[in-house]
Amino acid sequence: MRWALFDGTQQIDATELREQDRGDYRDHLSCLDQECAAPMHWRKRSKDGKAATFFGHHAAGCEYGSKSDEQVELQRAVEEFNAIANTADELVIRLDPLPQNRPVTEDTPGATGTPGRVHRHQGADRQRHAGSVGYRPLLGKLITDPDFRRSRRALTLSDRTRTTIADGCVHVDDFTLRSTTMILWGQVGNVRGSFLNTGYMGEKKPAVLLHKEAASAVKDSLNLTELSELNGWHFLVEGRFQESSNGGPYVSLDNARMIAFLPPRNPAS
Ligand SMILES: [Zn+2]
Repeated sequence: MRWALFDGTQQIDATELREQDRGDYRDHLSCLDQECAAPMHWRKRSKDGKAATFFGHHAAGCEYGSKSDEQVELQRAVEEFNAIANTADELVIRLDPLPQNRPVTEDTPGATGTPGRVHRHQGADRQRHAGSVGYRPLLGKLITDPDFRRSRRALTLSDRTRTTIADGCVHVDDFTLRSTTMILWGQVGNVRGSFLNTGYMGEKKPAVLLHKEAASAVKDSLNLTELSELNGWHFLVEGRFQESSNGGPYVSLDNARMIAFLPPRNPAS
């Protein structure tokens, strides 16, 4: 699995561990589930591109023994959302820094960015809670909760556009071109050059054009060699869509922080 505990408390990400630090982690790694607490071992990224991982013998009944990394990653995103946003009256998009392949130190616990914050606005007659939430937790919530997709809860986008979850977060199948900033979410259908497409040519389904720097930042943060490895991944992007010369809608992205990804449930290979 991708995550483990260091010394029983600190979450670390297998893809962020470096070969030269291997000795520092030996005999300090255990399962994310503290009741299981099975000793874990680290396996580096394989030559054929399989991601670095932790492995070991989980206790009977430990769900990390049966869940795929993709399921665990989705669950972590939803838990992050629930921790901050389930009680918030309104949601405010927060741009998270990109995850980096940085060495893990005592000062950098966790692997998926900072937890959300709760702001309190003192209203005339009551307090409103605004929860600031990153794209990844929001994407996890949209994927797993159909009721949430129809929610009229207020949402403020990163460019301060005021909307609601239902109006502001559009699934690729419901897309229509509009002049305002929106959030689009769905799955990458295919990748052609720098375009992440959600349909095939002629279908006029929305696409994301990743500029060079954004493309390499995405690859770095997800440990990918090629953009085409994003086939089937869930994504969420914020931006203003436009029409290409052949009528296909797309959003042009030069900042990788405006898009987030979660791995597909059944990745190819
Ligand atoms: Zn376990």
